[in-house]
Amino acid sequence: MVSPDPVSGPMSRPLSGIVVQKYGGSSVADAAAIKRVARRIVEAKKAGNAVVVAVSAMGDSTDELLDLANQVSPLPPARELDMLLTSGERISMALLAMAISDLGFSARSFTGSQAGVITDSVHGKAKIIDVTPGRIQSAIDEGHIVIVAGFQGVSQDTKEITTLGRGGTDTTAVALAAALQADVCEIYTDVDGVFTADPRIVPAAQKLATVTYEEMLELAACGAKVLHLRCVEYARRYDIPIHVRSSFSQLEGTVVSGSIDHQEPTMEQAIIAGVAHDRSEAKITVVGVPDKVGEAARIFEALAGAQINLDMIVQNVSAAATNLTDISFTLPRSDGQTAMTTLASLQSEVGFDSLLYDDKIGKVSLIGAGMRSHPGVTAKFFSALAGAGVSLRMISTSEIRISVVVDEDEVDSAVAAAHTAFDLDASEVEAVVYGGSGR
Ligand code: ADP
Ligand code: ASP
Ligand code: MG
Repeated sequence: MVSPDPVSGPMSRPLSGIVVQKYGGSSVADAAAIKRVARRIVEAKKAGNAVVVAVSAMGDSTDELLDLANQVSPLPPARELDMLLTSGERISMALLAMAISDLGFSARSFTGSQAGVITDSVHGKAKIIDVTPGRIQSAIDEGHIVIVAGFQGVSQDTKEITTLGRGGTDTTAVALAAALQADVCEIYTDVDGVFTADPRIVPAAQKLATVTYEEMLELAACGAKVLHLRCVEYARRYDIPIHVRSSFSQLEGTVVSGSIDHQEPTMEQAIIAGVAHDRSEAKITVVGVPDKVGEAARIFEALAGAQINLDMIVQNVSAAATNLTDISFTLPRSDGQTAMTTLASLQSEVGFDSLLYDDKIGKVSLIGAGMRSHPGVTAKFFSALAGAGVSLRMISTSEIRISVVVDEDEVDSAVAAAHTAFDLDASEVEAVVYGGSGR
């Protein structure tokens, strides 16, 4: 008999009969797709579940709204941008509810605010601080299928409408699953699960049957946008298993659950879970910073005050003759303008020479719990990159990750080289990309 895994708490919870599903933009790109998804939701309802759905805006419509905003204003006010972007999910939620009702089932759509998704007040990247699912629970109790607009909430303090950051509907779904004590959170997308690399770049990528929260956190943090980073953090905190699968096929996907702390590192396990890449970052170098106690702290306090999350940070040893040092770091490109303005205003106070901005970079990361017990992973990674003629601009590591910054146009070849070097290429191509523009 198989004894229950001590980390899989939800398995030992009494089943609630509630299933939370999330459909991404590519799964609801047009009217036909919305009808197809409606049929799939109805199947889950017919199987005897209460069904709650978080839905994204149709296709690339969030990008189109952003383009429109930028045509009207180069720096749109964050409050108005959130008002605009949340409209995308309102369109898809209402259309989906209509399509379900056309199949003879009753559905109720709710905005994030109506669904009780309470956030902090940071527009554009709000964090969910609470979910009060009273209205949703009542709708479930009345037998309706519930559709919730993803990626949005309402601020507890300011009462303004907020968005959770790009890809945030995944987080809406997991937060709803946690609040409703759902049995499972299914994330439906345009690929069959989580692969060893983005199948758009590496057609020989292989689907992972399972992946731990920690490895998925690193993959998501390093750019594997198949899951939103905060959704994985949330799922780990509440021990909600996530099933990532395709809305275009009936195949089993990838189950994200369990912890590397409960896994004995063995010599047999695959060393690397996957290779992730990220083209959304930029690099800033603060040139000629006086090497005095507290100068770096002032720089990073100012950036934190501007709500900017930094990623890699490298400080060079100061040149003895000048006692000046350079500090480089990476950050989301979307924060580049704000960071440069914030730093420029510190120049006379801190006394650095100049600022350099480079957004023609990309990050490639190797992730896997197995690297804890395997020496030589870094050497193999770097020699694979060297073999592909890729130059390294920055390096950082964690217990289960090695990341490098490379030139943007070398990202694809770096990912492919690492994937091959660690024997991740499938002998027969199984990765299918069913939809989406990859935008
Ligand atoms: P959705 O619209 O369903 O939210 P996303 O575009 O946000 O879909 O995420 C799915 C995409 O994530 C895939 O089409 C794929 O290109 C990309 N992706 C990046 N890394 C991975 C990976 N390791 N496994 C699967 N997909 C990945
Ligand atoms: N529509 C939003 C976006 O494109 C949220 C999401 O799709 O999860 O980022
Ligand atoms: Mg997504």
